[in-house]
Amino acid sequence: MSATAYDPNNIFAKILRGDLPAHKVYETDKVLAFMDIMPRADGHVLVIPKTAARNLLDINPDDLADLAKASQFVAKGVKRAMAADGLTIQQFNESAGGQVVFHIHVHILPRWTGVALRPHSGAMENQDVLAKHAATIRSALEAMQAGG
Ligand code: AMP
Repeated sequence: MSATAYDPNNIFAKILRGDLPAHKVYETDKVLAFMDIMPRADGHVLVIPKTAARNLLDINPDDLADLAKASQFVAKGVKRAMAADGLTIQQFNESAGGQVVFHIHVHILPRWTGVALRPHSGAMENQDVLAKHAATIRSALEAMQAGG
């Protein structure tokens, strides 16, 4: 396998297969969104495509478009659910670009005026807190899907 080939045993591929748990907030036939396990802000969500792509450099453009559309929808729901003032969107490519998990993902970080992002501490969030935020975000997205 070359250094830039897709590894089907990456953590997010395992979440997609159901081999690892995740606090899911949104799912279609093309994408999955779930809580980041080490959130840099409360309500930090990751959106991933179901297609096997390492990052922006190898994803099929049509799959990228689906990921962008889903990211916009999920971002609106996160902002609403978390009563955020704004959002930071991040997407890293290869180790030099800050990527750690090599299945393309979009970070959605709710932001509040005057509140800094938390540092990468390596500490996992309490599961109950993740579950609570996931439930709030799911509700907001369901309301949006229902036209609310
Ligand atoms: P990066 O590849 O730099 O965009 O970072 C990967 C992100 O995935 C980090 O924010 C991690 O906290 C997050 N992460 C790693 N493992 C899991 C997991 N099992 N479930 C949810 N998020 C994860």
